[in-house]
Amino acid sequence: MLERKPIFPNVIELNLQAGHLIGCNVYLVYDEDEWILIDIGYQETVEEIIELIRQLDFPLSQCKTLVATHADVDHGQGLALAKQMLKTTVSAHPKAARLLAAGDKLQTFAEIEAQDIHLDMPPVETEHLIDEGDVIEVGRLKLEVWATPGHADSQLAFRMGNLLFSGDNIYRDGCVGAIDAHHGSNIPAFVKSLTRIRDSDVEWLLPSHGPIFRKDVGMLNETISRLEKYQHMADFGTCAVDWPLMDEWEDEIVEGKMPE
Ligand SMILES: [Zn+2]
Repeated sequence: MLERKPIFPNVIELNLQAGHLIGCNVYLVYDEDEWILIDIGYQETVEEIIELIRQLDFPLSQCKTLVATHADVDHGQGLALAKQMLKTTVSAHPKAARLLAAGDKLQTFAEIEAQDIHLDMPPVETEHLIDEGDVIEVGRLKLEVWATPGHADSQLAFRMGNLLFSGDNIYRDGCVGAIDAHHGSNIPAFVKSLTRIRDSDVEWLLPSHGPIFRKDVGMLNETISRLEKYQHMADFGTCAVDWPLMDEWEDEIVEGKMPE
């Protein structure tokens, strides 16, 4: 048996628990014998994760559900195998559930032809569709479901007291989950999600990648203003909402203004 190293009462992060990097952050939330996982990661690490949970003395039959923060390959590729091994259910946003059921590779970043990335995405059914306002109960614990679109249209976050399992919304260095048109990213929605996180009374952010950190309003403000700029920059292609230079160009064409 291994000694449990909770980061907060009733919360273990499995990379930190293992003492080495396994993959995306995997949160085990538990009350007495009942537990859930928030994300599972890649298929090839599922067995290691389940063995770790067994060594932490959690009954494998008491996994209430596997929760997906969204459908990306690095978070959800292992869902099908883990669900089968644990004989449990999957909980995800309806839009993530569609991608997971179809084994979609494009919107989940499993297939990036131009970069020669070709990963499997084993299809898996979602038993519990979860969305804004729903509550996931784990023993006596309650996790509120927040819909926080931006990185993906199916991105969820989960609030438990002063903790927010914040998915790919924001990391400790102020970076955010990748913004990509093929992925369903939406910059104005992202700004709203980050603003909601900033204005909430949550104290700790537990992201899907990298260290857990205290919510920092100054850092969130910097990130929000960066994304507000992205909305008007050609750099972000069809994810930008406009490009002011095109309006200037049109005016200059109409005026017949020559290069100076
Ligand atoms: Zn991610």
